[in-house]
Amino acid sequence: MTDALPVVALVGRPNVGKSTLFNRLTRSRDALVADQPGVTRDRHYGFAVYETQRYIVVDTGGIGQDDEDIDTQAFAQTEAALEEADVVLLITDHRQGLLAGDAAIADRLRRIERPVHVVVNKSEGEQSVSAIAEFHALGLGEPWAVSAAHGDRVGLLLEHVFAQLPAPRALVSAHDRDAIRLALLGRPNAGKSTLVNRLLGETRMLTRDAPGTTRDAVASEFSFDERPYVIVDTAGVRRRARISDTVEKISVVKAMQAAEAAQVVIVMLDARAGLSTQDIRLLSLAVERGRAAVIAVNKWDGLSEKQRQRLHAELVERIGAFDYLPLLFVSALHGSGLRELLDAVQASHRAAFAELSTNALSRTLEDAVEQHAPPAIHGRRIKLRFAHQGGRNPPTIVIHGNQTQRLSDEYKRYLMRRFREKFDLFGTPIHLVFKNSD
Ligand code: GDP
Ligand code: GDP
Repeated sequence: MTDALPVVALVGRPNVGKSTLFNRLTRSRDALVADQPGVTRDRHYGFAVYETQRYIVVDTGGIGQDDEDIDTQAFAQTEAALEEADVVLLITDHRQGLLAGDAAIADRLRRIERPVHVVVNKSEGEQSVSAIAEFHALGLGEPWAVSAAHGDRVGLLLEHVFAQLPAPRALVSAHDRDAIRLALLGRPNAGKSTLVNRLLGETRMLTRDAPGTTRDAVASEFSFDERPYVIVDTAGVRRRARISDTVEKISVVKAMQAAEAAQVVIVMLDARAGLSTQDIRLLSLAVERGRAAVIAVNKWDGLSEKQRQRLHAELVERIGAFDYLPLLFVSALHGSGLRELLDAVQASHRAAFAELSTNALSRTLEDAVEQHAPPAIHGRRIKLRFAHQGGRNPPTIVIHGNQTQRLSDEYKRYLMRRFREKFDLFGTPIHLVFKNSD
């Protein structure tokens, strides 16, 4: 059983420190399974972890600002983000004190049925409770003094927030333990429901949402070649921007929850629509979470050979950071390419869960260093001694040596490539961890 990740939304006036807090929460030591070179992190949606509880942080500050294809009324976007939140942190600024803008946001928050906590940021070094007493006037309970920049009392705040979090919703309850859990992500109209219907072998009428509403992702079980699968389909979690009924957006939060629950993510692209920043965003979040993934280019039917070549070249060029993910061309409508798609899913799943021996890893490291040694820094060579496996799903390789913090991203990419080729780790991100022994 996999629960939907809880969602913590940060709201507040500009410059109070929302993005600073966002960065602190999402960069906490092992929040990111994979700091993948070449993959840009989303600035507004991030995975985080408090003790063992994973969660999603949303910085509502700039939501909507950098979307290519939507009318950007920041407030409507913030409202939509609040609807998806389980708990809201209203961030204020100790240095500026309580302002009318804070009160206006508090008024708005009083109307939503979510726990809200008032956070008084930039309170570093502040010991006295009375210093933040004025924030009681917001009428949202006890204010919490923190310093996002220095980390002061952020842990205490989280302890408080998580103690009051409502019980999570179950997202996937797989009856079959051997089933491979899939998440199907893609923009509206990419063909996700069509694919799921194909895979389930029946034409189901999916209940479509009314405009402006969201519903949970649904999990369905099916088998293919006698292999059981569970697929979390986010087709129903489209949402319409309130301001314009014609534009449908993906819900990033729902996509993140589905990726969390999955072992392999299928990102579906629409060959007719080309590659968009939303597609890249979906790929990035899957990889950032450390999930195995495959890219399915749908609606491959009916394209001329020339169009196919052009699209193929464009994809290869633009998804360079994901060049280790298999690229499959399918037609959900006609059912072509599905066997190849599921074969790729299985291969990615195998790679994600591969067992790697210390001997073989160390030998591969040795060979890699022999062929291309890390550069000397101030006359001292960076030494890489041996490697062992630190975890699976995604494969985590721990490398012991000295001065490893000085290794360039380029060199890390080189090592990753060597491990990937040697152990056939395609279709999954790899996590490299460096340990210094001197
Ligand atoms: P946002 O607009 O709400 O996302 O605010 P930012 O995170 O961009 O922060 C605005 C400014 O406040 C930046 O210059 C930050 O460095 C600063 N800042 C953020 N958190 C703290 C803090 O805890 N203490 C102090 N002194 N400054 C902070
Ligand atoms: P979703 O929003 O991602 O669930 O997309 P749908 O499954 O509802 O499909 C959107 C539209 O694309 C529908 O009109 C489908 O018939 C069409 N479609 C889906 N797959 C294919 C395909 O492989 N080829 C073609 N030509 N059209 C497709």
